[in-house]
Amino acid sequence: MTVAPASSVSLAAAAGGGSLLFRQLFDADTGTFTYLLADVASGEGLLIDSVFERHQRDLSLIQELGIRLVACLDTHAHADHVTGSWLMHEATGCAIGLAAAARAENVTTPLQHGDRVTFGSRHLQVRSTPGHTDGCITFVLDDQSMAFTGDALLVRGCGRCDFQQGNAHTLWASITEQIFTLPDSCLLYPGHDYTGRTVTSVAEEKAFNARLGGAATERDFVGHMQNMKLPHPHKIAEALPGNMRSGKPREAVPTAPGWAPLQRSYAGLPELPPSWVAEHRDQVTILDVRSSEEFDGPDGRVAGSLLIPLPELEARAAAIPADRPVVVVCHSGSRSALATQQLLKAGRARVANLRGGLSRWSDEGYPLDGAVTAGTAS
Ligand code: FE
Repeated sequence: MTVAPASSVSLAAAAGGGSLLFRQLFDADTGTFTYLLADVASGEGLLIDSVFERHQRDLSLIQELGIRLVACLDTHAHADHVTGSWLMHEATGCAIGLAAAARAENVTTPLQHGDRVTFGSRHLQVRSTPGHTDGCITFVLDDQSMAFTGDALLVRGCGRCDFQQGNAHTLWASITEQIFTLPDSCLLYPGHDYTGRTVTSVAEEKAFNARLGGAATERDFVGHMQNMKLPHPHKIAEALPGNMRSGKPREAVPTAPGWAPLQRSYAGLPELPPSWVAEHRDQVTILDVRSSEEFDGPDGRVAGSLLIPLPELEARAAAIPADRPVVVVCHSGSRSALATQQLLKAGRARVANLRGGLSRWSDEGYPLDGAVTAGTAS
């Protein structure tokens, strides 16, 4: 059997024969959807609500499909994740589009209500939909068959209104006047979902949205929104300032050494996925920084890995072979992140953290010596 090389995939084929390519991407860490749209005939595309940590994923897809990215857009200045816009701008030269009202740095295309963002023969229309933040916008596809609502309207819900200039009255007006006036059949793609719902429609939300659908009045909606008592988003301290720079890191991102396809987290840490580490197992030292109890316990360990518990790392770093790269592991990737940082600071150049730790390693089906699996069904 012969397999065609990936480069032979035409945009038309990838789009399933239609004239528009559409991809919905997901970041499980923050429940964020990223959307890729491309005009098949011209190859021009747009990315909406990208996530900093998923930049390499999005870039790889764009490159494989041969899309010329016109702009990386955001529906608002997010409080829960940092946008990948600046990274994408650096990588592809695309424009950075965000509502002018957000007043963020590095935006090359400040957007206003009524603007059009064109890609090939297609365009998105910008509708101002404030209320979650005062810079929230909804992008409506030219034929009104789909709209990207950000956090203004979510599936059976909506964005919170209790911080970042949020205002429930404003959000009510935005949704009822700018989103519910689209055709009933218009598909609505939200900025987030945390329970696996991916898309809805104007008709559905008008009927079933728990906060403002059915017979709900503005007073009902505002009463609901003002009594939600939600915890503060845990990433807000990092995300908001990052987004006010359009995702440009405060410090220069160090250039990746060439030994592996490293991905950098927003914290600047080099990471590798389990698949790469498993494939290159014999070329790297796997450094396990858990306790010896965990190392010898029922979670198991990667065969042949070197144990140096994190508290002893500084004193015993000389025991790590200097002639090969180091992949640091722990249960979840958190202690190993700290260890990776320590080793980089100590001058080791070829170090990376195992993304998701041994927990993800095991979830993805890679073997662990001595692991005891409880209640394994066959
Ligand atoms: Fe938001």
